[in-house]
Amino acid sequence: MSSAIPTPSTTTPTTATPAPTRRRRTLLTAAVGTAAGIGLLAGGLSPAAAHAAQAPAASGTVAEQSAEQSAERSYSSPVPAGSGAPTSVFGPRGDSFHLGTDYGVATGTPITAVTDGEVLRVETGKTVGDTSPSSALKHHTGNGVVVKHGEIGGDEMYSYYGHLSAVDVKPGDKVKAGSVVGKAGNTGNSTGPHLHFGVMVNSDEPNGAKWTSATNTGFIDPHDWLKRKGVNAGSDAPVTP
Ligand SMILES: [Zn+2]
Repeated sequence: MSSAIPTPSTTTPTTATPAPTRRRRTLLTAAVGTAAGIGLLAGGLSPAAAHAAQAPAASGTVAEQSAEQSAERSYSSPVPAGSGAPTSVFGPRGDSFHLGTDYGVATGTPITAVTDGEVLRVETGKTVGDTSPSSALKHHTGNGVVVKHGEIGGDEMYSYYGHLSAVDVKPGDKVKAGSVVGKAGNTGNSTGPHLHFGVMVNSDEPNGAKWTSATNTGFIDPHDWLKRKGVNAGSDAPVTP
């Protein structure tokens, strides 16, 4: 894919003579163009840069464009630094399919939103062992929070946090990357305290299925998704909201 994109031409000045203001401005404009080219080349490796490259060209000054580019969406681990590698990964598990990633963290551990968004749904009052059909997910994840993140890379994205012991948000609350949405727990069908973390594409339905290319809808591997955003969940510290 990257081979189809022409390499931006080099515009680095070689003269030691101080350039007049007008020339410096021209060079700065060229540098912005080069940065956009790098964003395209990075593709899926740097979604934030790719997102900037997709944004409509701003009509303002170069300085204004730079300010817009620095106001990128940030991403966060949902669990504290040192929580450890996932205890159960996304994918086939026994006779079913695990629609998220589990991180083994103690009850009461703060759970944080992975990027900016708005709380869409909250499920509370669920207790340990509650596997009722009305529990947050069909696979019984107890107290849970669904956050709507809006459009990311052309898709509507949502995240889900389950088995919580406490929920610290309500529907309509705005959250930032790193905002605490609740405390880890053991509610629902769970054999020990942990976070169940899910990411949904083009669907706010947490009872959905794994993502399929036919519909471009469903759950994706949330740990891998965060990794593509530059976050190693379970290892990296959550960002400050
Ligand atoms: Zn899980």
